[in-house]
Amino acid sequence: MTALEILLLLALVATITVAWWLRLQLQATRERQVRELAEQRAQREAELRTQAERTAALFDRMVEGIIVVGATGRIRIANRAAGALFNFIPPAADRTVLEATRHHEVAALVSRLDREPEVLDHELRIDGLAETRHLEVNALALRSADGARDGAILVFHDLTRLRQLEAVRQEFVANVSHELRTPLALIKSAAETLIDGGKNDVTITARFLEIIDKHANRLTLLIDDLLLLARLDSGRVELNLQPVPLRAAAQDALDDAALIARARGVRLANEVPPGVVAEADPDRLRQVLANLIDNAIKYGRPDGTVALRGRALAGARVEISVRDDGPGIPTEALVRVFERFYRADKARSREQGGTGLGLAIVKNVVQAHGGEVRVESTPGEGAEFFITLRAGIGSANQR
Ligand code: ADP
Repeated sequence: MTALEILLLLALVATITVAWWLRLQLQATRERQVRELAEQRAQREAELRTQAERTAALFDRMVEGIIVVGATGRIRIANRAAGALFNFIPPAADRTVLEATRHHEVAALVSRLDREPEVLDHELRIDGLAETRHLEVNALALRSADGARDGAILVFHDLTRLRQLEAVRQEFVANVSHELRTPLALIKSAAETLIDGGKNDVTITARFLEIIDKHANRLTLLIDDLLLLARLDSGRVELNLQPVPLRAAAQDALDDAALIARARGVRLANEVPPGVVAEADPDRLRQVLANLIDNAIKYGRPDGTVALRGRALAGARVEISVRDDGPGIPTEALVRVFERFYRADKARSREQGGTGLGLAIVKNVVQAHGGEVRVESTPGEGAEFFITLRAGIGSANQR
C-alpha cells in the first residue's frame, strides 16, 4: 500500500469516526430535547392540575352556589353549594342545567342570557318537602376573546335564613306593639272614666287608680324585660362569673318567692345537695331561678309543692332544676315555651300579669353562661325545668 493510499484510508477512517461521533452527539441532543420537552409538559400538566384543583377547592368552599355552563348549554362545573341547593352531586359535568337542577326557572334564566348580557337579583323560590328556600340569582353571559357567546355563569345566594329572621323580627314587632297596646288601652280608658266624672265617686276613683297602677306596673315589667333581652341579644350583658354553691343560690331564690308562695299555699322545698357548685354570675342566676320559681308557683297547683333539685354531671357540668306538681305543659307546647311571647295557657298568663318573656330571658341568660335549658313535663303531673351550667372551679364556700 502506497503512502498516499494509507493517507486516504486514514482520512476515510477519520471522516467516518467524525460522522459517527457527530451522529451520536445529534442523537444525544435530540434525546435530551425530547426528555426536556417531556419534563416541561409533565410540569405544565401538574401545574394545570394543581390550578384546577385549587379552583375547584375554592369553588367548593364558597357559600354561594355556582354553576358554569358551556356554549352547548351543558354544565362545565358546579360547586358543592349548588349541589346542596338543588340536590345533585357536583360537578355534574355534561348535564344540562335542567337535568341537574330540575328547575325550569333556572334553565329559562340561562336562555334569557342569549338576549341579555346579565340578569341580576332574580328571586327564586324552591318548594321542598321540608321547607321553602328563597334564592337570589345573578346570571352573567360569558364571551370568548373573539366576542362569541361562550356559556354562562350562575351564582345562587341562599336568602332563606335572612327571610326567616325578617319574619321573626316582624312577628316580634307585632307582638311588642300588641303587648304595649293592651295595658295602655286599659290605662287610657280608666283615666277617661275618672275624667268623665268617675273621680267624684271615691270607690270608683280607688278602683280605677288601682287599674292604672296595675297596668303601669305591667308596662314597666314588659319594658324592663324587653331591654334586658335586647342587651342579651347584642352581647352587652357582662357576666361576673364566679363559683356559686347551688344549694345556697336555690335557698336565696326560694326566700325571695316565700311571700307569693304562701299566698297560694304552695310549699317550697330546697332539695339541692350541698357541694354542687356552678360557675355563674350570682345575680343573673338568681334572676333565672326567680323566673322559674315564679312560673312554677303561678302555673303549678295551688297548695302544691315547688322543689329545687341539683346534681353534678359528667364533663365538669352541674344541673339545677325547678319542679312543680301542677297541670304541666301540653306536649305540643314543650318545644315552644322558650320562644318570646309564646304562652301555652294565654288566659292564665294574662291573668297572672306575665309578659311572655320570662322563659326567653332564662334561655338567653343561661346560654350567655355557655349553658343549656330544657323542660320535661307529663301533662297532669307537673313540669320540671332543667339548667345545665359549667361546674365552678376553685374553693367556693360550700353551703
Ligand atoms: P309568662 O310571662 O307568660 O309566664 P314565660 O315565658 O315565663 O311567660 O312562660 C311562657 C309560657 O310557658 C307561660 O305562658 C305558660 O303557659 C308556660 N309555662 C311556664 N312555666 C310553666 C309551668 N311551670 N307549668 C305550666 N306551664 C308553664
